[in-house]
Amino acid sequence: MNGSTPQPPRKRLFVALMGFTCILLIGIIYLLWWVPTKGLANFHPDLPRIVGLVFGTLSLLAVLGTALLVLTTALGKDILFTRFMRLVVIKFLLPVIETMGKLFGIPKDTIRQSFVAMNNSLVSSQRLLVPADRILILLPHCLQLFDCEIKVTGDINKCVRCGRCDIKGLADIAQKYRVDISVATGGTLARKVIIEKRPKLVVAVACERDLTSGIKDCYPLPVIGILNDRPYGPCFNTRVDVEKIDAAIASVLVGS
Ligand code: SF4
Repeated sequence: MNGSTPQPPRKRLFVALMGFTCILLIGIIYLLWWVPTKGLANFHPDLPRIVGLVFGTLSLLAVLGTALLVLTTALGKDILFTRFMRLVVIKFLLPVIETMGKLFGIPKDTIRQSFVAMNNSLVSSQRLLVPADRILILLPHCLQLFDCEIKVTGDINKCVRCGRCDIKGLADIAQKYRVDISVATGGTLARKVIIEKRPKLVVAVACERDLTSGIKDCYPLPVIGILNDRPYGPCFNTRVDVEKIDAAIASVLVGS
């Protein structure tokens, strides 16, 4: 058995690499200012000071932005610009941190687990409240038992709830909260489902790679990502902690 069960996602790694990125950025800004200073003075004696002021402001913004991000996730509160910070994390920090991870020899999936935890923390900091009919649970097809003959893609209610896989528990949760639930066979179908159902929040189950790309593709739509367990290896009879889905929905449901 060549299985893998993800460790509980830790955002600490992402935060640490983010701090390192911030220091590196300030170093680069300082070098950019310091190296051509003398040359700039030849054009105008005030130019090094003006450029220094601009670069100093950029450094300050990098430090303040990082501090705000850390504080937001630590306190779990929407202090300022949380939605914008998700954009910065997803579009700017993730690729930089993935490169950084490569340099430090940190496995890609470890970085992605940490990114998903960071994303979830920012989404929960927004304290969103969403009506049941605008929440979508999106599941990968590999959660269904391989030899189950029922086709649940398209309509999960066809599941006869035999309990041999987690589709039963997940269908029960969808019924309990009256939220939409879909099983998608891939990214293209998942995107199609999202376009059709127009949710305000998605609770998605997938592996590190698919969750990361899904969160990126869906922005600005908030996605709570839950990693699946792969006791038999990737994409085959995977499992998920159904309680986590229940808790995620209960935390955002209006009136819960
Ligand atoms: S719980 Fe549903 S999907 Fe899973 S094996 Fe049973 S009938 Fe098939």
